[in-house]
Amino acid sequence: MPERWPRAAATRRRPEGRCPTPETTPVLLSGWGRTSPSAARVLVPTDDDQVVEALNERASRGDEAVIPRGLGRSYGDAAQCAGGLVIQTTGLDRVGEISRDGTVEVGAGTSLAALLRAALPEGWFVPVTPGTRQVTLGGAIAADIHGKNHHRDGSFCRHVVSMTLATPTGVHEVSAESDPDLFWATAGGMGLTGVVLRARIRLRPVETAWMWVDTERHRRLDDVLEALVRLDTTHAYSVAWLDCSARGAALGRGVVDAGDHALLAELGPAVRRDPLAPPAEARLHVPTLPTSLVNRASVAAFNRLWYATHPTRPGRLQHLGGFFHPLDAVSGWNGVFGPRGFVQYQFVVPPERPEVIGRALERLQRASAPCSMAVLKRFGPGDPGPLSFPMAGWTLALDLPIGPPDLRPALRTLDHLVLEAGGRVYLAKDARLAPATFAAMYPALSAFEATRRRVDPQGLLQSDLSRRLRIGPGTR
Ligand SMILES: Cc1cc2nc3c(=O)[nH]c(=O)nc-3n(C[C@H](O)[C@H](O)[C@H](O)COP(=O)(O)OP(=O)(O)OC[C@H]3O[C@@H](n4cnc5c(N)ncnc54)[C@H](O)[C@@H]3O)c2cc1C
Repeated sequence: MPERWPRAAATRRRPEGRCPTPETTPVLLSGWGRTSPSAARVLVPTDDDQVVEALNERASRGDEAVIPRGLGRSYGDAAQCAGGLVIQTTGLDRVGEISRDGTVEVGAGTSLAALLRAALPEGWFVPVTPGTRQVTLGGAIAADIHGKNHHRDGSFCRHVVSMTLATPTGVHEVSAESDPDLFWATAGGMGLTGVVLRARIRLRPVETAWMWVDTERHRRLDDVLEALVRLDTTHAYSVAWLDCSARGAALGRGVVDAGDHALLAELGPAVRRDPLAPPAEARLHVPTLPTSLVNRASVAAFNRLWYATHPTRPGRLQHLGGFFHPLDAVSGWNGVFGPRGFVQYQFVVPPERPEVIGRALERLQRASAPCSMAVLKRFGPGDPGPLSFPMAGWTLALDLPIGPPDLRPALRTLDHLVLEAGGRVYLAKDARLAPATFAAMYPALSAFEATRRRVDPQGLLQSDLSRRLRIGPGTR
């Protein structure tokens, strides 16, 4: 282990089921959408050396594909490797001491939930958070995740100072300055450049764990878009939820939330007693239900209720757990989609092509595909990662249960609409894109392949996603 690794400063709960040697019996793994499970052997290393050893062994034998996995919160097949070895990093969960400038070295298997438990009481927040804190640092880098502050702060890897990357050709200390090609290929590279062992990231100072939230309800999509543009100039965070069952003139109506961190002086006495309390753990758990609860009737009722009852008071004080991670209140909520699961389709289109949003909603309505959740956000400029998803424009994420026969053709139509508009689909959510469509959406793919060949000439790093999309040596 390198000398500079600091002593752990945080108390951590050890995840169960660790094994330093790979299981000999393959385990069935799937993404959060549970659509395409596959079996692989799983190694759960407890230190960096075990990862390096596993990669070295496979590089010398050249006979087994490998892919890292974090907490399996990507929706499709990115963290699976049928017939190969999956390195589940959750044992690499150390949090270093936070320096005075807010930088901290974090083990790649640390969840953002654990990082927040360590950092919030000291007055630090993560620079970018997705809609759940149950993701690892490695998963956050590999998907170059975005949050509600993308318009202001960009995506996660903009806040990564450096990372330690284990590849089949050795361990690399990488920063955007020391090796920009490898750094940015890893940012959004879906684990295909190596296993991130740890990274130094820059945290954001906060005085409290509370948010001031302004909420507006709008009857038309155009008004929702206008509100996001306007609120982005005054707020650090913004997001809109759309009622996907609304039609005609009400198509795309929705509720817009915009928030900022609250200052200590702004809190009332009750909250001020423990102003930096981390978010509470989930209190409810949903088992996988034998059949999906998500159908056209339940979705229409839920959407109408949410739209009608969402509080629209300006200046509401909300704990950051509820503001950033509302779904974390219920663990295993994906179980409501039943054993067949669901896909999340997330795309981004340039700022001047917002009409694709309405056309996508209409196409899904024509396919009778119920959409249980539609989240709209405005991105600022993207980062240089060839496979990094965010780019300036509008991004819409849609949760769609598997079932309606016209869902697949409808999503293929959406692919064409997005591609024609100059946009792309998010790999961390994808389970079904075709290789040619993917290659057209990510024109810098050849630059990614070149960097990947440098660190993994044999193409050992493979996932079900990379095989499906034909990323890798000899696949095109
Ligand atoms: C409820 C919910 C809300 C979400 N909201 C958002 C959002 O707002 N914004 C957003 O951007 N994403 C969002 N996501 C997606 C999620 O942030 C990403 O899929 C993230 O990558 C998941 O992290 P993970 O640790 O679960 O990784 P996994 O799903 O286990 O793996 C994802 C990818 O990362 C790679 N990987 C994992 N660990 C490492 C490592 N140590 N080194 C190299 N590669 C690695 C894997 O190979 C795989 O390709 C959301 C997901 C859920 C379930």
